[in-house]
Amino acid sequence: MSTVIVVGAGPVGSTAALVLARRGIDVLVLEQGVTLAAESRASTFHPPTLEMLDALGVIEPLLERGIVARTFQYRERGGDAIATLDLTVLQSDTAYPYRVQCEQSKLTPILLAALPRCAEVRFGHRVEGVYAGDDGVVVHTNHGPLRADWVIGADGAHSVVRTAIGAGFDGSTYPERFLVASVQEDLTEILPGIAPINYVFDPVEWLVLLRTPEHWRVLLPTPADTADELETARLPGRLDAVAALGRPWRIRHASLYRVHQRVTDRFRRGRVLLIGDAAHVNNPLGGMGMNSGIHDAVQMAGTLADVLEGDAERELDTVAARRRTVAVDHVQRASHDNWRRLRGHDASYAQHLRELAADPAAARAYLRRACLLDSLEQRS
Ligand SMILES: Cc1cc2nc3c(=O)[nH]c(=O)nc-3n(C[C@H](O)[C@H](O)[C@H](O)COP(=O)(O)OP(=O)(O)OC[C@H]3O[C@@H](n4cnc5c(N)ncnc54)[C@H](O)[C@@H]3O)c2cc1C
Repeated sequence: MSTVIVVGAGPVGSTAALVLARRGIDVLVLEQGVTLAAESRASTFHPPTLEMLDALGVIEPLLERGIVARTFQYRERGGDAIATLDLTVLQSDTAYPYRVQCEQSKLTPILLAALPRCAEVRFGHRVEGVYAGDDGVVVHTNHGPLRADWVIGADGAHSVVRTAIGAGFDGSTYPERFLVASVQEDLTEILPGIAPINYVFDPVEWLVLLRTPEHWRVLLPTPADTADELETARLPGRLDAVAALGRPWRIRHASLYRVHQRVTDRFRRGRVLLIGDAAHVNNPLGGMGMNSGIHDAVQMAGTLADVLEGDAERELDTVAARRRTVAVDHVQRASHDNWRRLRGHDASYAQHLRELAADPAAARAYLRRACLLDSLEQRS
């Protein structure tokens, strides 16, 4: 019998476990993988997420492993930067007026290493069903049933917990897939003046160039229905079109993703909470999925800790509803706008970005939204 079972040891479930365990609540994390996931996924940490990781005492090891990115650029394909946005305009808003570029797979071991003794992590434990009653929850796993007072589903986009509580996952799928290539090239030499994060506009083939500690990543749109092998074979030519090196680009890794915008209808059903990708997924443009998931974890697990210490359960409903509003009104909207604008070629929007970059007050307002600081002031 555990007080709280967290399903999934991704960045979101691991954060929720740390929030609870730091409050002395006994937590059991069940992870289906035999180890932590090492996949190349999120790589950007926004300022409010850095603040939260600081409050949890894990910011130092993340900063040691990541790269500080004070600026990002909007660029035109084959041309110069349209606008360079400088996050230092946020210095009155946050102790972390920058983004940190670091793979999510580097955060999860840091979070688990920080767990105090009242938390336990069991790998190779796949949750297969969840049955919630008024006084507790039974969690069925491949090793047999377990009981808990509360369950947090942080088991990703294909959440078994979400299905078990009958919560929907409405939304849409993008008409293209996203191809992410990690390359062993120094793009700061190849494209002088480039920022660590670059969104490149183009009506035919937009792209994103992101620096991570070991690689640069190139994100390209790819037709939904072509064979994976064909896309892999086309990749060297597509990279040549980004910059001709006079030799093939050194590609270390490439993966194709289908991308969705979906939100569950409820983040809480009785004693079961949903957070992170289990509750909402969005396209990766703007780096909001993991970040907003970590914000869910801090706010929902923090409020659950308050309830376990005697506060009214009603507040849990308020926070669950607020996190859903953030997912719909901030994360879905902003990430979809980013996708729509990248594939357009709107001269007036480019002019707007230039003016924004030249006006610190306007840039501050824009960046507060883009890095989710505003979303944390959402009241209802
Ligand atoms: C290419 C790409 C780039 C991205 N870039 C960014 C970015 O820069 N910034 C950003 O904020 N977001 C980004 N994202 C999104 C980000 O990766 C996700 O939002 C994030 O991983 C969500 O974390 P999570 O812990 O909710 O889910 P996951 O990371 O999916 O973790 C879920 C965990 O649950 C486990 N699990 C699943 N089912 C079960 C089960 N039945 N029983 C037990 N365990 C289970 C899984 O093994 C996994 O460990 C990107 C995504 C992609 C695909």
